[in-house]
Amino acid sequence: MVALVTGGAGFIGSHVVDALLERGYSVRVVDDLSTGRVENLTSDGRLEFHRLSILDDAVKSLLEDVEEVYHLAAQINVRYSVEDPVHDLRVNALGTLKLLEAAKDLESFVYASSGGAVYGEPRQLPVPEEHPTDPISPYGASKLAGEKYVQLYHYNYGIKYAILRYANVYGERQDARGEAGVIAIFLERLLAGKPLIIYGTGEQTRDYVYVGDVVRATLLGRRCSSGVFNIGTGKETSVNALVDIIREVTGREPEVEHAEPRKGEVFRIYLDVTHAREELGFTPEVSLREGIARVWEWFRSR
Ligand code: NAD
Repeated sequence: MVALVTGGAGFIGSHVVDALLERGYSVRVVDDLSTGRVENLTSDGRLEFHRLSILDDAVKSLLEDVEEVYHLAAQINVRYSVEDPVHDLRVNALGTLKLLEAAKDLESFVYASSGGAVYGEPRQLPVPEEHPTDPISPYGASKLAGEKYVQLYHYNYGIKYAILRYANVYGERQDARGEAGVIAIFLERLLAGKPLIIYGTGEQTRDYVYVGDVVRATLLGRRCSSGVFNIGTGKETSVNALVDIIREVTGREPEVEHAEPRKGEVFRIYLDVTHAREELGFTPEVSLREGIARVWEWFRSR
């Protein structure tokens, strides 16, 4: 089997690549290294790396013998999407559309979407897939546009798809410079002896899901008979609770500073994951405590 992974040099994508290689796939990675790193890629004879934008016409020729596409390449920075919404739209929506155009004869298309961004301010918790989609950032709008094109190509050309709306993913290889990864940021700052900065009261909540669980869900997505799935834990954790867990797991006492709450962020969100459990057979296995312990070890060993 040959799979193409866009964004395969990134945080989640590189773990998807590893999982595919473990299952005996040959894997072709397309990544422009805008945030990804070649160091994230394992050296393996069955792995081909192409430093290329998904907007480049050359991607089409890389799809010739591919059976499955995992589309994770994206502009993922919410604040940057506000500063340059046109670039964000080009990569996330036009990039997805160009890939679909090149892949319309394929069997399976897995699209990494964002549960934190496409719903907007939750009207009910946990948030089910049927919840209205009212993004409050250009990033949310462009990821949602990508979803719509995926579904359109299913309707017009019969591509089987899984749209996976990931919650807040954390794990090894997450870039602490990225704004989405509060766990990576906190652990890196703790290791460097710097204070942890909490925006607002710290009572805001998120659904933190370990990257290994997300990868399992992503591979389960390739065999489904098309649909939209929340991928998270179904549990909410406040930033203050996160700091408590970090204190327990690391045995260190973090210094905490408070700053003004950030605009454009929802206050509480966690995802209803019933659909993924029933249709994909997905249940998250790694507790937040265990996951944080693994990431802490990873940061310390670097
Ligand atoms: P990441 O930044 O580590 O990975 C994105 C990858 O895409 C990077 O390797 C980057 O170099 C590559 N890329 C960006 N623009 C590209 C382009 N034009 N052409 C080719 N490659 C390009 O981020 P991540 O956290 O691993 O995110 C992966 C996917 O998961 C994204 O689609 C993101 O929207 C989605 N997602 C992530 C989270 C999270 O919590 N990390 C949550 C919800 C959804």
